[in-house]
Amino acid sequence: MELFEEESLTNVQPSSASSYIEVVFNLPLSQSFSYYAPSEAPGDFGYRVEAPFGKRKLIGYVVKTTTTVPSGDFDILSVNKIIDKEIIFDESQIQLAKWISQSCFCSLGEALATILPNYKSKGESKRELFELQESSTYLPHELSKEQAKALDAILKGDGDYFYLYGITGSGKSEVFLQAAEAVIAKGKSVIYLVPEIALTHQLIDDVFNRFKGKVALLHSSLTDSQRLKQWNKIRSGEASLIIGARSAIFAPVKNIGLIIIDEEHESSYKSDKNPRYHARQIAMHIVSSSPGVNLVMGSATPSLEAYHMMESGRFKKLSLTKRLSGGELPKISIIDISGETTTISKQLQEKIIATHAQGKQSILFLNRRGFNHFFHCKSCGFQMKCKNCSVALTYYKKENMMKCHYCGYQHRPITICPECGSLDVGYSGFGTEMVEEEVAKLFPHMRVARIDSDSVAKRGVLGKILSDFKEGKIDLLLGTQMVAKGLNFPKVALVGIVLADTTLYLPDFRSTERCYSLITQVAGRAGRYALGGEVYIQTYFPNALAILLAAKGEADSFYKQELETRKLLGFPPFSRLGKLLFRGKNKERVISLASDVANHLNRICGGEVEVLGPAESPIAIINKNYRYHILLRAKTAKAIQIAVANSLHLFRKDQLVYVEIDIDPVSLL
Ligand code: ADP
Ligand code: ZN
Ligand code: ZN
Repeated sequence: MELFEEESLTNVQPSSASSYIEVVFNLPLSQSFSYYAPSEAPGDFGYRVEAPFGKRKLIGYVVKTTTTVPSGDFDILSVNKIIDKEIIFDESQIQLAKWISQSCFCSLGEALATILPNYKSKGESKRELFELQESSTYLPHELSKEQAKALDAILKGDGDYFYLYGITGSGKSEVFLQAAEAVIAKGKSVIYLVPEIALTHQLIDDVFNRFKGKVALLHSSLTDSQRLKQWNKIRSGEASLIIGARSAIFAPVKNIGLIIIDEEHESSYKSDKNPRYHARQIAMHIVSSSPGVNLVMGSATPSLEAYHMMESGRFKKLSLTKRLSGGELPKISIIDISGETTTISKQLQEKIIATHAQGKQSILFLNRRGFNHFFHCKSCGFQMKCKNCSVALTYYKKENMMKCHYCGYQHRPITICPECGSLDVGYSGFGTEMVEEEVAKLFPHMRVARIDSDSVAKRGVLGKILSDFKEGKIDLLLGTQMVAKGLNFPKVALVGIVLADTTLYLPDFRSTERCYSLITQVAGRAGRYALGGEVYIQTYFPNALAILLAAKGEADSFYKQELETRKLLGFPPFSRLGKLLFRGKNKERVISLASDVANHLNRICGGEVEVLGPAESPIAIINKNYRYHILLRAKTAKAIQIAVANSLHLFRKDQLVYVEIDIDPVSLL
């Protein structure tokens, strides 16, 4: 919502009293609003205006000009001013916005605001995320047989969905890049989606080198004016390769020929705010609604949905089974750490030392930040939780502070139990900060760096550590998911997963899939360019299926068994889900609205849609807001959408309870 505080502006002259514009706003209101058409509009639609709205002035999107007199009992007003001197969106974007508004339950204005960049702010500082290194020497690889076959299939595609299912290091990027080159050579454009720009530095350098001036880069740290510059480059056709995270799928490309989704399994492709769209679904929609566009996704660990689509033939599977740069898949071993007293077991310690002695590098992965993440009383069992959220506080040793990862609440560590007064209090559950401390003690001769969202919060730190690691100035790199994603370092011979179970037993049906995929991805960082890469997985559950099969590298076996489980339980990909999350500060009112909606849904659904709940969310309180959810389950998303559409009128019955609608949620927490 864009509110304007400036003193009132003179109204723009209407062009003639018989012409009207329909304007939609970035507000959860399904209707459009009519104003007199301004005289110097850049077009019939596709531009923004600032318009009076109640007592406020808001920026709205003009979606239509008409001569039909708006019906209704209201005064028609003029807009205050025209914001855009040129058209900034066209019919295809309105159509896409309409589709998003229907499938994600947001207003047309909210959908347009999601699709279009925010051009508003002025005078912001310019900070470049990247210093691109355009080295002029770039040689494409001669493709392997498998790669050539995959490329050939993609280029022959005719509105197809392809899936490049290749082990880590099998040269998926090379296929993507050569496919992009071929499509661009034919005068078309390419959108290349990556999960996270900051961790894709190498690929982006490659892209800039290969496509020189033709690249537009879209990412969340762009300032509004930088984003606008990239958009203009795309709209004018100057850029034919657009690389970016999730929202780059909305780039206003001319003549799109190919959409690439790298690391398809990544949950960052799903928007975590309203409208909760998934970039993969938007891409599929674009392919199905515009002729001559192909989609190619890729991963070593496809989502179960994608795997299922490959089995059914809806996604055309292209397999890459060999590592190409001289390495082979690493040998993976499991270490049962029950009874160990240090975070790094003896066995793993020895491996780290041996790896270092050979002049090679190690990566340690742990999916948890901070020093400890539980504080509890050993006398009465009291657990120190956030005062705003129903989650344990994480202890940070260096700062001597306990912090909430959900709302940012901080509290000084306590020495006496607030419940029973006992002095026998302690911490448990370790995070990256503790591992870093232990590693420093265990291997004082090694150069260690840590990357997680705490340690690299400052701009530039992450890039510096990654380039130091690449240049061999760091011996051991320790971190969270950040070390698991896409890093490609020649000298990494050892990967240690400090605790593989962190995601395994979360109350979410995808926790097994996440655990498997994370292990496989992290393991894939070892031995990419040389033989003899090794991976050690530390766990308390050495017999958990996800861990065993990831260790054995038996992907198909994992997918088959997990699909069986999903089928038995009726979870996706064998059903579609919709999540309605009710949240508010007053628990009774949250429960009351959730129950009303559930009752209504039960009345109207009749068999086709299953209504589960309301139930308290696994994270019951965040930021003082109580959270309850209803899950809807059906064979098709359409059935869920209809059920939701038929209950929308209830959602705003209570102004103090907010309802989030999430179709195909990726998280149930
Ligand atoms: P993936 O994305 O499948 O994990 P990458 O695309 O990062 O794998 O490729 C791994 C490495 O193999 C990269 O360093 C890349 O330059 C190299 N590579 C890719 N294709 C070939 C090829 N045909 N011949 C030799 N090396 C290749
Ligand atoms: Zn106590
Ligand atoms: Zn909190």
